[in-house]
Amino acid sequence: MGMYKESIDFAREADREDTLSEFRGRFWFPELNGKEARYFTGNSLGLQPKAVEKYLQEEVEDWKKWGVEGHFHSRRPWFAYHEFFSESLSRIVGCKPSECVAMGSLTANLHLLLVSFYRPTKQRFKIICEQRPFPSDTYAFHSQARFHGFDPAEAVVELKPREGEYLLHTEDILRTIEEHKDELALVCLGGVNYFTGQLFDMQAITEAAHRAGAFAGFDLAHAAGNAELKLHDWDVDFACWCSYKYLNSGPGGVAGIYVHERFSRRTDIPRFEGWWGHEPETRFRMEGAFVPMEGAGAWQLSNAPVFTMACHRASLDVFDAAGMDRLRAKSLKLTGYLEFLLKKIIEEKGPQSLRIITPEDPAQRGCQLSLIFPAKGKEVFEAVTQAGIIADWREPNVMRIAPVPLYNRFEDVFVFAEVLKNQL
Ligand SMILES: *Cc1c(COP(=O)(O)O)cnc(C)c1O
Repeated sequence: MGMYKESIDFAREADREDTLSEFRGRFWFPELNGKEARYFTGNSLGLQPKAVEKYLQEEVEDWKKWGVEGHFHSRRPWFAYHEFFSESLSRIVGCKPSECVAMGSLTANLHLLLVSFYRPTKQRFKIICEQRPFPSDTYAFHSQARFHGFDPAEAVVELKPREGEYLLHTEDILRTIEEHKDELALVCLGGVNYFTGQLFDMQAITEAAHRAGAFAGFDLAHAAGNAELKLHDWDVDFACWCSYKYLNSGPGGVAGIYVHERFSRRTDIPRFEGWWGHEPETRFRMEGAFVPMEGAGAWQLSNAPVFTMACHRASLDVFDAAGMDRLRAKSLKLTGYLEFLLKKIIEEKGPQSLRIITPEDPAQRGCQLSLIFPAKGKEVFEAVTQAGIIADWREPNVMRIAPVPLYNRFEDVFVFAEVLKNQL
């Protein structure tokens, strides 16, 4: 594509050259002021794939037509419904199909995984996490510590950025793990921090956790469908994610988990059990003791929520067609273009106009850039909204912008930067 240029013609040319441009047409866009919005909040709720209605309709029809027999005779038999996701998910998070499963909801899944992977003893009881993870994760860590009889103030160790900084240095994370190694039970971070957009070195963190004798798990809410992930190769113990952010599967939609295959069918680790985790051959016999099925599926509790999963299927088909490699390649260019334009603004208007807190190194971020506005506050955000752009504002002065490679254009990025420039 050559060097970036600060012009609408350059942006439009980049869109014409984009081999993924047709995917934009597979999504519905909300309207703002009577016009199709430029949507930069795929990190919060991804747009609806147009195929969702058809996929949902098929399940509604099959339920109508088959009743209970739909478990075995519908187009996609509900008995095995969760199996229709593992191949696609395995490509998105980088694991074997048996190591992941679509199930439940994110925070509930995190608790289920903590049951298995946070097993504190008097000697080893600490969890290392980000200083301000998404609040739900904090509540999960604190309540798990209390559940096991520990004081969260002691058991939950937060990784703090250095004085005056927003990001974490990998070396500081590794050092903290080393410092707590004799008391450490678990390291559990977000793959990408929801606020700063920082992508962590999950491989190095996992290695350090294992060296310390602890487990390593990641909440991939902001990483799944956004960053390149290799959970199996990185030797990560467990992970969980939601599907309504970058995975575009609808509000409150079915989530997913990954568990490394070394834990498959293990009966010596605690697991909260339910009938859907029972091995399928004898699941419907409904007798005898629990026999865990192979892989991550053993953590399932209930039968598949078919309607939210139908939406998920529609979205994963789009990911299968686009491919994570191609998406990530475009994402690097698209976010790179946003960064280029923002740096031009900073050059022109001075360092007090705006600051990018997300890492400059593309290997340490996904598509999102988090911006701080030191001088102006919410009026910038209001002008952005007025211009037909949906962005995300965090009080007192942070805007998060996520150019999503599936449906955002270089032109969107250019227009957003123009609006900002005119405000600052
Ligand atoms: C979005 C998000 C959640 C939300 O949890 P739900 O259980 O899906 O409501 C939790 N943790 C992180 C890190 C998130 O980004």
